[in-house]
Amino acid sequence: MAPLIDPFGRAVTYLRVSVTDRCDLRCTYCMAENMTFLPKRDLLTLEELERLCSAFISRGVRKIRLTGGEPLVRKNIMYLVRALGDKVKNGELDELTLTTNGTQLARFAEELAEAGVRRINVSLDTLDPEKFHSITRWGNLEQVMAGLDAAQKAGLQIKINAVALKGFNEAEIPQMLEWAHGRGMDFTLIETMPLGDISEDRTDQYLPLSQVRARLSERYTLNDIPYKTGGPARYVEVQETGGRLGFITPLTHNFCESCNRVRLTCTGTLFMCLGQEDAADLRAPLRASEGNELLLNAIDEAIGRKPLGHDFDINRQNKKPAVERHMSMTGG
Ligand code: SAM
Ligand code: SF4
Repeated sequence: MAPLIDPFGRAVTYLRVSVTDRCDLRCTYCMAENMTFLPKRDLLTLEELERLCSAFISRGVRKIRLTGGEPLVRKNIMYLVRALGDKVKNGELDELTLTTNGTQLARFAEELAEAGVRRINVSLDTLDPEKFHSITRWGNLEQVMAGLDAAQKAGLQIKINAVALKGFNEAEIPQMLEWAHGRGMDFTLIETMPLGDISEDRTDQYLPLSQVRARLSERYTLNDIPYKTGGPARYVEVQETGGRLGFITPLTHNFCESCNRVRLTCTGTLFMCLGQEDAADLRAPLRASEGNELLLNAIDEAIGRKPLGHDFDINRQNKKPAVERHMSMTGG
């Protein structure tokens, strides 16, 4: 079948699937304290998510990332991981990955590795237990550390993702970098994006990575490297640690021109861009017939509307988020 090519000639080969909007944490930059989650009856079943993923694979998607909310809190999630992992094993997919907060990894690491997952991203914004508790509103850092140990023991490669937050982890970044590289993990910094109402002022949290990078280069030798994971991160090698450091900079350096991805929510809504409201409903065509014709037509129609890029803006005049939905709905 024909590949999915958007109006700007970009091939869509990467699907991110948010398998639940729920989470066991409430990171302050991601969620409001009192979130209203979707009623369970609105969710696609895991079998339906598998069918949707297979439809995308049949149209040239080669990489799938499961995210959320917290993907590992979705009941029976290993069913979907195993089904997609089998597609990695038989060559239909190049890679199946996961973005997780790490709280459930001690329980799942071994099974993930067995199912065919090789790399995972673990989000962690601080190494200080009290600060971790406050940024996640109630999380326990020890639980995440035990998860990381289990994941490494199971042979999973880990990338630590930290959101750079002004006055929160700014001073801790060198320590985090050395800790991650010391354990053989990649380390990536992310700029906060204006997604969803979080009951706090984002301009107080926003820390431009251009500033962080300038400060890091006073202390370390950062060598540009061509390493790419198919994502928007730009990597450097830190000469002193020998490890990789990534920067995801949607605000200071727009990365849309090479975008190869679309995002599916747990209700079957397809977002063609993380930073735009436009979306396509795939649940209705999925459920309308057992064959995939209607579904594939709806996917084609949606890819035909993929926009060139986002227009994030964080400033004091513009207090509204760029889009109303939270990152936990489309999964970052
Ligand atoms: N719960 C999982 C986790 O935390 O890794 C997966 C979902 S979470 C929404 C995915 C990533 O988005 C995390 O690395 C998180 O730090 C990041 N994130 C959440 N809200 C964000 C925002 N407003 N701006 C930038 N990154 C954000
Ligand atoms: Fe949950 Fe991940 Fe959002 Fe934190 S960033 S509240 S862990 S979904």
